[in-house]
Amino acid sequence: MGLKSKVLIIGATGYLGKRLVNASLHQGHETYVLRRPEIGVDIEKIQMLLSFKKQGAHLVTGSFSDHRSLVEALKQVDVVICAVSGVHIRSHQILLQLKLVDAIKEAGNIKRFLPSEFGTDPARMADALEPGRVTFDDKMVVRKAIEDAGIPFTYVSANCFAGYMVGGLCQPGHILPSRESVLLLGDGNKKSIFVDEDDIAAYTIRTINDPRTCNKTVYIRPSENILSQREVVELWEKLIGKQVEKSSLSEQDFLNIMRGQGYAEQVGLTHYYHVFYEGCLTNFEIGDDAEEACALYPDIKYTKVADYLKQYL
Ligand code: NDP
Repeated sequence: MGLKSKVLIIGATGYLGKRLVNASLHQGHETYVLRRPEIGVDIEKIQMLLSFKKQGAHLVTGSFSDHRSLVEALKQVDVVICAVSGVHIRSHQILLQLKLVDAIKEAGNIKRFLPSEFGTDPARMADALEPGRVTFDDKMVVRKAIEDAGIPFTYVSANCFAGYMVGGLCQPGHILPSRESVLLLGDGNKKSIFVDEDDIAAYTIRTINDPRTCNKTVYIRPSENILSQREVVELWEKLIGKQVEKSSLSEQDFLNIMRGQGYAEQVGLTHYYHVFYEGCLTNFEIGDDAEEACALYPDIKYTKVADYLKQYL
């Protein structure tokens, strides 16, 4: 477990990617970051890459449009973590990752690959609604390619990113908590799981050379962060010292509203539906063929939702 790896992070300047770089450096791994020529003169990305370098990361040039450059980048490392976007470039995500799988196959030296998952376990979403199921279906296509190629993998199921869900008190279209009112999804009682994004990165990096997580799905389920929407709201009310006004959106009304939206909005709302109306994150037990991160790494002190909410005061 104390072993150090050479880790390449792809999508490193992204929302999760930058946290993965920091966690990898913090845990003492030799950290490589893919610098895509396509970022051009994006000064924010350039500055971020330079800050990674200052902290000890190696920048490696490589493009998804140049197979050889990817293979050469991969040859320098033994672990690859992909954190390319699943939100803005959804249709690209599958293509990029299939290209990456091809490059990993050719490089032949990768001991562990973590594809860009970090959400609901797609293997449990075979009955998901259209059109949002596309995200799960795409991730399953990537999984099949990885497994067919015999590439050792770990799939991280990170549940709900706290920044998106806790901040908005689990309401679609909200990212900051209101002191006045909240719309409950259904009765607001379905249990979900919320994880601070820095904790997702810390747990993810711990898995990369752990034999217990090889060819497994690792769920991140911090026990104190398994909460319903109502419970998240109650924690917020405790912090602000007052009750917020509550109304409720029935399942049927939610579906009707969803079906009236554009494609991208519907895809996003499908996730809210399965999490908050169906309880898809908590309606199963983790079997013997998977692992739970907090049990594997009890020394990581995760951020509790009650503490996460304090930043919004
Ligand atoms: P971002 O939208 O922040 O993008 C990540 C990075 O992908 C970008 O910074 C860029 O990195 C790279 N990228 C973007 N476009 C391209 C392209 N055309 N070609 C190649 N690379 C590109 O992603 P997130 O951090 O939000 O998402 C990461 C993962 O986390 C996804 O799998 C997503 O599904 C999941 N997720 C889960 C959530 C949850 O609540 N469970 C919430 C949000 C995301 P660079 O320029 O450095 O190469």
